[in-house]
Amino acid sequence: MSERLVTFPHMGEYWIAFETLVRELGATPLVPPRMTKHTLELGARHSPEFVCVPFKYNLGNFIESLEAGATVIGQAGGGCRFGYYAEVQEAILKDLGYEFELVNLTSSWSVGEFIADFKRIAPGASTLRIARAFAIAYRKAKALEAIEDRVRKSVGFEVERGAHDRVVSRFHQRLRDASGFRDTARLEETTLGELGAIPLDKPEQPLRVGVVGELYVLMEPFANHNLERRLAEHGIEVHRFVTLTSLIEHGIRSRPHVRKLLGDADPWVKYHLGADGTESVAMTWKLMQDGFDGMAHLKPFGCMPEVSAMSVLQRISREHTFPILFVSYDAQTAETGIRTRIEAFADMLAMRARGRTSA
Ligand code: SF4
Repeated sequence: MSERLVTFPHMGEYWIAFETLVRELGATPLVPPRMTKHTLELGARHSPEFVCVPFKYNLGNFIESLEAGATVIGQAGGGCRFGYYAEVQEAILKDLGYEFELVNLTSSWSVGEFIADFKRIAPGASTLRIARAFAIAYRKAKALEAIEDRVRKSVGFEVERGAHDRVVSRFHQRLRDASGFRDTARLEETTLGELGAIPLDKPEQPLRVGVVGELYVLMEPFANHNLERRLAEHGIEVHRFVTLTSLIEHGIRSRPHVRKLLGDADPWVKYHLGADGTESVAMTWKLMQDGFDGMAHLKPFGCMPEVSAMSVLQRISREHTFPILFVSYDAQTAETGIRTRIEAFADMLAMRARGRTSA
């Protein structure tokens, strides 16, 4: 029997956590090749034209992994079109003639089903092993998020260009090799220390921008054309709250979380908008009141939850003269256009800040 090679979609640097998960389950991971234009072209060529762009990226990842020899695909899902990704992608890939098994984690509605799905990824894995694998992968995802959060807030002020990137690329390599909880925690602490030692030229009150929107384009820099980094390069402290582990935590306590979001989004939203739509409104409303200088709202073209959020955000922006950069992505989005808009947005924020201090 040929070896089971397990693959998954790319999303930022979370591949390190996914790779660990598969390995700790006792199966062999096949990390999809790094995202390139070719990945998107492949995905877009075989996807329904009007499907949201994360579907196309994921499909491109799967085709590249299958070509590299993957035999098992793990795919997640959510409460919007994301819930149908796995089924539709499986049908498309089978029509293309690939042979593989797709484990659809969307169908896990209880702990028992969840464990059964993981046993399909790694037949023979005990429940204890699955729980441990999940916990270690989760801890690594947390470490990634802690480091990325620090970088978003300080990379725009580094004195020596590239200093943060050097620390982060060493961190990724060491995180991949980290063997358990203690190792990961120690690595996170050391890396935060290394980042903290990088000389910065940061004003006491830097410009602060929050980034909200659809989860995939938020967390995959290739899909958002590196928007967070480009904002930071204009001397901006960038804040983002949607992360993989926050989504898992919110998914676990779904009802109380939605109730809280609706409270935070009051008086703008009465009913949950689906996916991260309500969160986009709640966070914008909160950060505006916390004195942030502006927001960036990112969404794939045609993403219904974020289209609904956008109309509310436009009202908040208009009625409170609060700058919000709206960016919509599809398979044709050009990098140059995004760069120009970020530049104009950053200039405008700096001008407003100068106006405030000279008033
Ligand atoms: S949140 Fe939007 S873009 Fe993402 S899967 Fe759902 S509908 Fe598509």
